[in-house]
Order: sequence, then C-alpha cells, then structure tokens
Amino acid sequence: MTEHPALVLAFDLHFQDLYATDGLTRVDATFLDWLREASAPLAGRLAEARANPAALSLKERSDLILELSPVLEDFLGEMFGITGELNALRAEYSALAPLLAVKRKFVQRGKQVLAIKPEEAAAIDSEAVRAQLEQAIGGALTEESYAGAVEGWLANAAANADQLSAAAQYAAWALHTPEGRRAHKKGVLFKKPEKVDMYRLVEVDTLTSPLASGTIDKFRLPEEEWRHRQGFHLTDHGYSTKGALDEAAYCIHCHNQAKDSCRTGLFEKDGAFKKSVFGVTLAGCPLDEKISEMHEAMVAGQPLGAVAIIAIDNPLAAGTGHRICNDCMKACIFQKQDPVNIPQAETRALKNVLELPWGFEIYSLLTRWNPLNFERWLPRPATGYKVLIVGLGPAGYTLAYQLLQEGHTVAAIDGLKIEPLPAHISGVEHHGLRVPCEPVRDVRQLYEDLDDRVMAGFGGVAEYGITVRWDKNFLKIIRLLLERRAEFSMFGGVRFGGTLTADSAFDLGFDHIALCAGAGRPTVID
Ligand code: SF4
Repeated sequence: MTEHPALVLAFDLHFQDLYATDGLTRVDATFLDWLREASAPLAGRLAEARANPAALSLKERSDLILELSPVLEDFLGEMFGITGELNALRAEYSALAPLLAVKRKFVQRGKQVLAIKPEEAAAIDSEAVRAQLEQAIGGALTEESYAGAVEGWLANAAANADQLSAAAQYAAWALHTPEGRRAHKKGVLFKKPEKVDMYRLVEVDTLTSPLASGTIDKFRLPEEEWRHRQGFHLTDHGYSTKGALDEAAYCIHCHNQAKDSCRTGLFEKDGAFKKSVFGVTLAGCPLDEKISEMHEAMVAGQPLGAVAIIAIDNPLAAGTGHRICNDCMKACIFQKQDPVNIPQAETRALKNVLELPWGFEIYSLLTRWNPLNFERWLPRPATGYKVLIVGLGPAGYTLAYQLLQEGHTVAAIDGLKIEPLPAHISGVEHHGLRVPCEPVRDVRQLYEDLDDRVMAGFGGVAEYGITVRWDKNFLKIIRLLLERRAEFSMFGGVRFGGTLTADSAFDLGFDHIALCAGAGRPTVID
C-alpha cells in the first residue's frame, strides 16, 4: 500500500496498519501505552479482563467498558487528528443536557406542570403565555431557549415564581392539547411516554363512507404523518442527534440492576421467554448488544465511545438499527408505555461517527480492533482454514465477518452479479487482484444518490428489499468492511449447485461450506 498524506495518523502509525494484523497489533500496543499514561489502575484492570474475561461479573464488565470508553474515545480522536471535530460533536451532545434535564425534572415530573389537569390546559391562552415567556427569555421561544431559561429559574424558584408558573402553563398546554401537541410534534421537550395500546399501535383517522346499504369505514394515517415518495429517495431519514439523545436519556440504564431486558429478553418465572399479546417471543437483542451501556455513553457525551460499545457485539451495526430490527425495543423494560426507541438511537450514534472526518475509517477500525471486547480485541491468528460462504445477504456477510475475526480465510459467492467498486476504494481491481486502497475522509464520497443508484448485488434481501425506507449506502459500508480485508474475496454470478458444487468446492481446497442462501421463500405465481 502507498502512503496517504491526507491521513496522517499519530503515534507513528500508518494507514496500512489499520488493515494488517501486525499493524493492528501495533495499534493495540499504542493504545495500552496511552491507557497506562491515563490511568495505570485502569490499564491493570483491562489486562486482568483480557487474561480471564470469564471472571468478570456482568456489572464489572459493564463498569470497565464504561470507564474505558472515554479513554478510547480520546485516543481515537488523537490518532486520527480529529480532536477538534470530536470535541465539537461532544459539545453538541453536551449542549442537549439542559434540555433533557428540564424535560425530565420540570416538564414531565414538575409539580407545577402535574398540577394542571388536561381539561384546565385546554383553557390556557397559549399565545399570551408564549408572549410572557418570550419577554422573560428575551427572545423567541424554542425548546432550547425554554429549557435554558427554566433551568436558570429553577435555581432560584422563589424569585422566579411568575416565570415558572408561565413555563408550567405552557408545558401543560403543549402536552395536553391537540394544538399544543401539533405545535411541538417535531420536537422532544414537550413529549412524554404514552400508554401503549397493543391493539392500536398505529394511530389512524377513520373515514366513514356511505354505501348503497349502510356505511364502510376507511382507516388511514393522519395527513401530517404522510411521507410522500419521490422516486427512490429516502422517505425516512431517522432521528436527529436531539431525538436520539432523548431516547438515550429516557432509558433508565437497566444494566446497573441486571435488568436490561432489551439485551437479555424478558423472562417468565419458569425461565422461559415472555411473549407479547401477539405471541411474539420477547427475547431481546439476538446479538446481546450492550444497549444500556451504549445509551449511558451517549448521555455522557461520548459519541465514539458509544459506537465502540455497539461494535463489541454488533460490529456490522450499519446493517441493523432503524428500519431493520427492533427485537430489543419489543423487550424493553417499559412494556406498558412507549419503549425506548433503541434502533433510532443506535443508527444516529453510528451516523454521527461516520460523518466525522475519517469517520468511515474509525468505524472500520473498530470492527477489527476493539479494546472494549475483552475476548477478541484483535482478529485471531490465521488458522489456515478456508471457508466458502454461499450467499451474501445479512447472514452471509455477518458470518464472513465473524470467520475473518476468528482467523479463517473466506471466499463468498452470490448468485447475483456483484458490481465492482472503484479499486482505490475497495482495494480490489476488477480481475480480483488486490491493490492499495485509499483512506476515506468523508463518508459522503461513498454515498450515491438513491434515485440513481444501481443495484450492486451485495446484501441479499437488504439490497432487493426495503426500498426508500433504509439507506442502502450502508450496504457499501458493510461491503467495504469485508472487501478491504486481504483474507476475504467474493464472486458474484456464481450459482451454488451449478457453477460450483459442494464436490468442486472441496476439490478447490475449501475446508468448510456455509450455506447462507435462501432465507426468503420463493414466490410462486399460480
Ligand atoms: S432500553 Fe429499555 S430495557 Fe434497555 S436499558 Fe433502557 S430502559 Fe432498560
């Protein structure tokens, strides 16, 4: 590989180190030095955890992860030379803290707001109260200006009784009246968890039309919920940082009580998983992702730390989250009120890191080297085993990743033609030869307009399904996490059982064949 002057890594590390086993070992050694400098006792605990991870209780493991998270974050910021940009992102997270605190202690739980009954809220003159608040604030009333002002007034409640009374009236109006809810629909401050009606999960308008005899009801989403489709463009961009942090702050971080059912599932007394009223097993995240810890890192203002925590159990998080899976959310401890929207929080956490300078390279690195993983912080030494994976949908690409981390060599085939990527991005030229790839500074250079994008053949169901609701550019990110690794190769347009059979695969020298194809049932048209 060539040197890339645009990416100058600190600690005398080089871009090519990030994609080579000995280079990753150097990254790890450098981090351990950094950690010892920051805290020798913490470095000692990490060494003990690596030596005997099974000896850690769940709580000890979580505590250690959360103590390492900010140190790792600082290290990555320094290593990639992005401390300024990282601090700006951290500041964005921290700036939301007053708003989320005022939401919790005043809007949702404040005695003054709770004292106003919904029927009384309907009689509040919201315009007059708004004008009063804007005068007291000295500017326009926004969620941020309201929260900042209330935080200040609460510090001396006796002296600010009139202002707090107006703020409480405004909050009650925004929470309880249809006009107030509509006015603040896009925000987070004036919202509180609603009771869940499992038989009415989607709010709909009912339109009744006359028939020749009787009437017929038509149900449709309220008009303000409609998302108009424009070609193949995304119709749902997911939560902003504010929305994601609102979810993270709503989470009560149950791992501290070993009750993080989003991860473990919900259990009956006999130890079986609970089921929802629809008979769905509430087994929690199938990857065992440390969701509670991820939320805690987000609330603590650690954007990189949060993604490193996700990547311990869910390194290919670009293929999960919002619009993909919600087993975690279904098993959230909040079963009678809105659950924490974990997929939205997870996806925004990842997007924020990807959008940092060199964000793709940082995320990519964390999928190969992650010191928060006490069992396998580096890929294991090469085993010499060669595995053929049939099918490059989510099962195939995830298995490929896990096998690579276990030290095996992987070749994957898919029946679909896989479109080549530019060699300077993938590190593979179109005849399959490896060439040096270049670091990606801005993740947007990988993204294509979804309206122009041609199906690339990688990703199975994730490629040919979920159109306009999920950003398929994430598939390119996942693909690069594999394709840039020297121990991985893939071939499109190869049909298992035709172009290649089990016998011919073993004749070629494969030790194992993993079938990851055919999860979708064939559609038969009569
Ligand atoms: S997401 Fe739900 S179950 Fe998980 S830690 Fe938060 S509150 Fe608890």
